[in-house]
Amino acid sequence: MDDCLFCKIVRGEIPSRNVFEDDEIFAFHDINPARPVHLLVIPKRHITSLANVSESDAPVLGRILAVANQLASENGSPDGFRLIINTGRIGGQEVPHLHAHIVGGSVPVGPMLKRI
Ligand code: 5GP
Ligand code: ZN
Repeated sequence: MDDCLFCKIVRGEIPSRNVFEDDEIFAFHDINPARPVHLLVIPKRHITSLANVSESDAPVLGRILAVANQLASENGSPDGFRLIINTGRIGGQEVPHLHAHIVGGSVPVGPMLKRI
């Protein structure tokens, strides 16, 4: 995906504060953190959103979940964190490359959602 922002980050064409990578996934600090710890974990291969996954994506999705606790602990959120995957218009997804937000720090993240 030539024009995808997060594909460009994976390729190193846009600078990012990287914290982890392996052959399948890439993790970096969110540019506009909502909490003291705010990381993004993405598949290196372009997947638009959770609305676009298939059975063959299960390993990379599992990998994102499997490393989340390690990344949170290593980056200042050792006592828990919240993982959020915004999906599509209703989910408020702004960047169309699947990404999991890891948010945390030393104070609780707060209620899961604002009630409406
Ligand atoms: P979404 O709303 O799509 O779930 O979240 C997109 C996230 O990407 C936002 O939290 C936003 O701050 C972050 N973001 C947008 N552009 C960049 C960028 O160029 N670099 C980094 N590191 N994060 C970005
Ligand atoms: Zn992409």
